[in-house]
Parts: sequence; C-alpha cells; structure tokens
Amino acid sequence: MTDRRCSVAIDGPSGAGKSTIAKAAAARFGFLYVDTGAIYRTVGLAARRAGVDPHSATAVEPLLPGLDIRLDYGPDGTQRMYLHGEDVSTAIRTPEMSMYASAVSAIPAVRAFLMDMQRDMAQTHSVVMDGRDIGTVVLPDAGLKIFLTASLRARAERRLAELSAKGDPSTLEDVLTDMARRDEQDSSRAAAPLRAAEDAVIVDTSELTLAESIERVCALIREKFGPEAGR
Ligand code: C5P
Repeated sequence: MTDRRCSVAIDGPSGAGKSTIAKAAAARFGFLYVDTGAIYRTVGLAARRAGVDPHSATAVEPLLPGLDIRLDYGPDGTQRMYLHGEDVSTAIRTPEMSMYASAVSAIPAVRAFLMDMQRDMAQTHSVVMDGRDIGTVVLPDAGLKIFLTASLRARAERRLAELSAKGDPSTLEDVLTDMARRDEQDSSRAAAPLRAAEDAVIVDTSELTLAESIERVCALIREKFGPEAGR
C-alpha cells in the first residue's frame, strides 16, 4: 500500500495566527493538528514549578529525564497537554508561560528531548504541525511548508484580543513589548532559530481576515496534495 500520509509544516512568529489557521485547515482535511508550542510551554511550566531559571541550561537539563509530558486529543479533537498526568492545557496559556517557553526552547537539550515526540506524530498521522522550526528542523521533508507571518502591530492586536477575551488585563503596550522580546529571542537563538525554510511559501496575514488566511492555506494544501487530500 502506498503511504498517503501528508505533512504540512507551518512556522512563523507568535501571533501570526498559526494555531487558529492550522487547526482550521487540519479539520478541513481531516489531518491531525499538532501545536508544538504547547509542548515547549509544558516544559516551561515544569521549569517554573521546579523553581529553576528557564534561561539556564545547567538548571533545566537535569529536569528533562524525569519529565513525563504527554499530548492527547480530547473528545472534541482539541489537543491537551499533560505534565505528570495533570492536564495543564489551560495553565500553559499565560503570558508568563510564553516567556518561560521561549526561554527553555533556546536550550538545545530541550529541543532534542522533544524531537521524537514531534516526529512520531507525523509518522503515524497526516498532520498540520505548527511551530518555529518545523519546516527547517523537525520535518525537513514535509510535503508543504508555510511561513505564516504578519506585522508586529497586527500580531499584537490579535493576541491582545485573545487575552482580553480570557479576562487577562494586559495592555497593547504590554503585548507589543512581550512579543517584540519573544520575536528577538526566538530569531536570534543559536538552536533552531525562527526562520523560513528555503522551500517555504510565505503567507503574510497582516491584511487578511482570518477566513481569508484559512482559505489561502487550504488552497495551498489542495494545490500540493490534490483535491483528494485527507479523503
Ligand atoms: O507557539 P507558542 O507561542 O505557543 O510557542 C511558545 C514558545 O515556544 C515560542 O515563543 C518559541 O520560543 C517556542 N517554540 C519553539 N519551537 C517550536 C514551537 C514553539 O521554539 N516548534
């Protein structure tokens, strides 16, 4: 039997709409959506709970062998993250955990520790996987690579709307500052910095509505894998 599994890698900076767009596209084609940022956030939470400096490789590395991190899908198909059996899917979604995730993700041993988990998902399912290094490092042979981006301001405004909807009191200033810092940290690190793969299609969503962005990504998937993709 021929292997008909399809892999779509979506990378880009925070707030470009990756997760919402990737999730919608995955649902459209019946692919599994894998949010790799959530996995890094879970390691960030583990560092926070252990009381260690997330920037310090010597402090974070010894935690890794004892970490029990699992990824699962709820009945509604949403990805859930478990840390030592506890569902931490909500706990990892705070601005503090964004910074912790960004800090621990710059540690090469953390990236190596999470590699197999991510690759295994793509070996066993057709996936839309989003992150920072999916097209460049995790799935260099992905059938389709998309680099989803938008201006800093557009991204900050979208993130603020998300946070406000959850009752978070952050201001646009706070979000702009955090995001610029995280962009800088993610793009300048030595280990798997955020950058578009050479063969990635760049999609700038600054001027696109969410629906238009989803259509654009779905059109790219259909073009690449054919109208029967996911059937
Ligand atoms: O995508 P999200 O904002 O949840 O990711 C949190 C942080 O995890 C990012 O700022 C980035 O530093 C890190 N990350 C990464 N590689 C990935 C996914 C996320 O380094 N594949």
